[in-house]
Amino acid sequence: MTSIREWFVLRALDPDHEWELRAACADTPDLLDTFTHPGRQPRDAEALAVCGRCTVLPQCQAAAVERGDTFGIRGGRRLG
Ligand code: SF4
Repeated sequence: MTSIREWFVLRALDPDHEWELRAACADTPDLLDTFTHPGRQPRDAEALAVCGRCTVLPQCQAAAVERGDTFGIRGGRRLG
């Protein structure tokens, strides 16, 4: 099974995704379900706090817009 950190590293092999190596959420596997399925307070607040200290928040926001993400916690925002 691939860990979330391994998944980020594999994606980062693509130069367009290099920034994902610095994703703060990659080091919070216990919050993965919250990032992908928000709405489970108070874990949403924990996930948003991780975004708040993430150094690649602007890149994450831009990628979410580019992908048309409509669900999950991305770039410090709860999308759905
Ligand atoms: S801004 Fe939040 S969702 Fe985006 S990479 Fe950083 S921690 Fe993850």
